Amino acid sequence: MAPNLVEWLALYDHLNLVYRARDHPGVDAAFLALATHDHTLTTSDRIAARVARWRRDAPHEPVPPEKERAWWGHCLCRACAAARRASAGIPAPWQRQQRTLQQQKLKPQRKGHRG
Ligand SMILES: [Zn+2]
Repeated sequence: MAPNLVEWLALYDHLNLVYRARDHPGVDAAFLALATHDHTLTTSDRIAARVARWRRDAPHEPVPPEKERAWWGHCLCRACAAARRASAGIPAPWQRQQRTLQQQKLKPQRKGHRG
């Protein structure tokens, strides 16, 4: 296995370990380490890392079909998740709020107070 995939698996295992230990600050740090490493991988490497994880931990279960694992290529980091939301046209909560407030401002007033 390629070293970057071996490292991904090690970071993934570490995250699971601290998660099971309920080590909350450790979970944040471990997730950040995994996401940071995930960001350096290509889409196909990310998929390969998750396929390797699946085959290692569930050798008797068939890997999901390619169509279903397309999202396995998504980077875990916060910046990429935000970029995916933006490109999918799904606004973040603060954007939805801003949009609502702007619409309210643009609505004509029903009752004319100017006589
Ligand atoms: Zn990323």
